[in-house]
Amino acid sequence: MNTRLSQLSRSVAGIRVIVTGSASGMGRATAHVFADEGAKVVVTDYDAPGVKKVVDEIAAVYGTASVVGVHADVSTSAGRQAIVQCCLDAFGSIDALVNNAGVALRSSAFADDDAFTEAWDRSLAVNLSAHAHLMRLCVPYLEKAPHGGRIVNIASTEGILATAGLMAYTASKHGVIGVTKGFAAELGRHNITVNAVCPGPVRTAMTAGIPEDFKEIYAKRKIPRQRYGDPEEVAHMTVNLCMPASQFVNGATIVVDGGMSILHA
Ligand code: NAD
Repeated sequence: MNTRLSQLSRSVAGIRVIVTGSASGMGRATAHVFADEGAKVVVTDYDAPGVKKVVDEIAAVYGTASVVGVHADVSTSAGRQAIVQCCLDAFGSIDALVNNAGVALRSSAFADDDAFTEAWDRSLAVNLSAHAHLMRLCVPYLEKAPHGGRIVNIASTEGILATAGLMAYTASKHGVIGVTKGFAAELGRHNITVNAVCPGPVRTAMTAGIPEDFKEIYAKRKIPRQRYGDPEEVAHMTVNLCMPASQFVNGATIVVDGGMSILHA
């Protein structure tokens, strides 16, 4: 007699996944972790040399059938179409989408009009509108995914809290959590889960300009784990949400921040 209780697979092997912004940082780490677990990965970014580099890294270990790259800007309709088409051409369908591409632009209440408008429009276009449009494009394929479709939207602790001088970024990331809940409410019955991951401070190109001593003081004061996170630590959460076993996690906002968001100032 089989006495095993667990019935649900924790394997993402064979799933066909798009990871946007995967030339660098958390996107690159996510593409790698998916490939390590046997998934077929679309690496896409508007940094063309970066796409080639990550594709080569993964292909060197798992072969060219496991990964494909496409240079595309997620803030344009043509770019998003190219990403979807690339996955269909290479792998036949789409089982999971990770909306990770993002920009962090300064935007102060006291900035001049042109600077504020430019940062606002770009932040919303890349960090929020692109997520919604790409989800819509992928839905017809995700709903046919053998183990259920999966969407993971990378928000931020800025989607829950706020930092002075980052108004557009904060608004866009609050929007990511909102659009995650909206799509989750509608797509649950279509066998697709939609969740948001909120990283705290992580060592990537986005935070590379922050001096080391500042990072250390900040982490000691603000983060119970006392350090910045590594991209791979966020990637594992994203991959977990794409497991067949995660089918009842839907519309959730999951913080990966070393405990930062539980503290009073
Ligand atoms: P990163 O700069 O290393 O990676 C972001 C990637 O997105 C880059 O490769 C960049 O070229 C790509 N990109 C930007 N605009 C694009 C566009 N229009 N089209 C296609 N690709 C585009 O930074 P990261 O920290 O790995 O950021 C990944 C995600 O994590 C972002 O959404 C970011 O807002 C979020 N995040 C980062 C941190 C952090 O501390 N690093 C914290 C919370 C959330």
